[in-house]
Amino acid sequence: MGSDRTTKRYELNELAQAADAIRAGAIIAFPTETVYGLGANAFDSEAIAGIFKAKGRPQDNPLIVHVSNATMLHQVASHVPDVAQSLIDRFWPGPLTLLLPKSERIPSSVTAGLPTVAVRMPSDPVAIEFIRLADVPLVAPSANLSGRPSGTTWQAVAEDLDGKIDGIVCGPATQIGLESTVLDVLHDPPRILRHGAIDIAMLRHALPGIIDASQTIATDQQHAPASPGMKHRHYQPKASVRICSMAEQGADSTMKSGNRGWIGIHRPDQANDYVVVVKCNNIEDYASRLFETFRMMDHRGIDIIDCEAVPLEGIGMAIMDRLKRASLKS
Ligand code: AMP
Ligand code: MG
Repeated sequence: MGSDRTTKRYELNELAQAADAIRAGAIIAFPTETVYGLGANAFDSEAIAGIFKAKGRPQDNPLIVHVSNATMLHQVASHVPDVAQSLIDRFWPGPLTLLLPKSERIPSSVTAGLPTVAVRMPSDPVAIEFIRLADVPLVAPSANLSGRPSGTTWQAVAEDLDGKIDGIVCGPATQIGLESTVLDVLHDPPRILRHGAIDIAMLRHALPGIIDASQTIATDQQHAPASPGMKHRHYQPKASVRICSMAEQGADSTMKSGNRGWIGIHRPDQANDYVVVVKCNNIEDYASRLFETFRMMDHRGIDIIDCEAVPLEGIGMAIMDRLKRASLKS
């Protein structure tokens, strides 16, 4: 597990070899519909330790376990309550992670000592096929160094993790571009711990009464253990991130210093003041390009990234959540 190993590239027609390596204890990044995941056998404590080491991830930040069928789900969770099953029937495979009671087969390092395990079934065909071929559930935290923007292309994964992991499945850029929604269905009322593409309106439609705990959980000490990952530094490029509303931008001249980049669904008023302008086609396009744009702006030597604020609806909630965390000064 040194930091100088060769990171093999697996093409999409070499998935079976990558899956064999996973069963032998390897750590291999692979595409999912959300972001690239850093995959390892969820039953293998040594491989799990390697994941935390490769990412520089704090030990108290639990991992999401990815399954490809119901048999695997029941190996991971000791029990699937009816309310969870109804959401599974409605939203899986897809970008919804559910907290369930952990089975004894899952090492406690996966869940950071918590009695619950976070589980999801991805919809991306490469991801599903990879888990099916590996024939074991896979932990798959986002494939990036801890604190950095999540990897949404295999090249971004290589930038952060080359020499630290065993391989990368070189698939296409991810479709959604932001991590899964995390829902605590064991809590009464069920509560959202992290926003993603399955938004609160969709969840409320299926299960009225769901509450948004994503902000309080992160800051409130009393609730901190409920989702440990939300308190850590996250998603940050080297450049400073600023959230700009279309109405206010341009009004404040102190906002205009430095080498600036823009990303949003509109062009900024003073586009000429920007070294790089990324205008997205719509809100989904904004979500899918956000992390890759952060990395691109770093390569271009941008000091400040101005990010357009979007309405808190649909995937806009997840975008604003990531922007807020990315803009926090550590
Ligand atoms: P990532 O692996 O980068 O997608 O992050 C996983 C997210 O899921 C983090 O925010 C974790 O805190 C959260 N998570 C994973 N397992 C649990 C759990 N058992 N209880 C609460 N949150 C969890
Ligand atoms: Mg992450």
